[in-house]
Amino acid sequence: MRRLVAALALAALLTAGCGKEGSPPVKGPQPDQLPVYPVATGFQLPDSPTWTAAKRRGHLVVGAKEDQPYLGQKDPATGTYSGFDIEIAKMMSASLGFDPKTISFRTIASANRETALQNGQIDYYVGTYTINDLRKKQVGFAGPYYIAGQSLLVRKDEDDINGPQDLAGKRVCSAAGSTPLQRIQRDYPKAVAVAYDTYSICVDNLLSLQVDAVTTDDTILMGFAAKAPDALKVVGAPFSKEPYGIGVSRGDTALRFALDDALAAHEKNGDWKRAYDATLGLSGVPAPQPPPVDRYPAG
Ligand code: GLU
Repeated sequence: MRRLVAALALAALLTAGCGKEGSPPVKGPQPDQLPVYPVATGFQLPDSPTWTAAKRRGHLVVGAKEDQPYLGQKDPATGTYSGFDIEIAKMMSASLGFDPKTISFRTIASANRETALQNGQIDYYVGTYTINDLRKKQVGFAGPYYIAGQSLLVRKDEDDINGPQDLAGKRVCSAAGSTPLQRIQRDYPKAVAVAYDTYSICVDNLLSLQVDAVTTDDTILMGFAAKAPDALKVVGAPFSKEPYGIGVSRGDTALRFALDDALAAHEKNGDWKRAYDATLGLSGVPAPQPPPVDRYPAG
């Protein structure tokens, strides 16, 4: 019982965001350590309907996550978004000729990304979004800008789960509409898959003993573990490849190619690495080499 109370208290703390008195000391992205991306002047992309509409509007609308530590996180007090995905979104904005400070971020859950891009609710999406052939039928992807891998998060005192082979009969939580949920259902049918809208709800359920594991990309899980190292741990080796792309409307190839060019430029000039070190790098993994951009043809 005492453990449950402690777990619930911790869950509340994680949900509420850290930095309050009594919360564990946590290093987050420090604004003064983040790179500044000079805004391209005179940039034009008339062949892109998305860019043209944004220019008329005066700013970009970007879809992101708000509950993924070091990747995409919204400060509940200020409404400010931060993390590696947010930095990628800002680099892209600067290259497209829009001041990153003017981006209007919208939180979009995993299951709603394709619809948001298809409806034009957002101009592009940066939020741990795996590029795959099925999704490419519905949206376009610039990138990849990072390669993650599916992994498992368990409570610190869990000894029985060390990899996906140990999941038979266990309750495993993931986000609806995500590739990790699909992989668990397809490749590990003896696991009891539980789906919620977000990974932070899964983590709350893990801490309150409602599920036995959370599964998604190692990047996301390591962020949660780094925020609660006394309660949570990531186990086993990654068991998939999740190349992260920037989601765009499928028909807007001009925008997709412009973002591919922008990514390559920011990787080359060191912005990518500086941004990684100031955000995702804080969860413990040194910056890898960014993967090559895959500028696949239109059609
Ligand atoms: N990268 C995986 C996906 O795109 C999992 C993370 C997420 O749900 O955003 O489905």
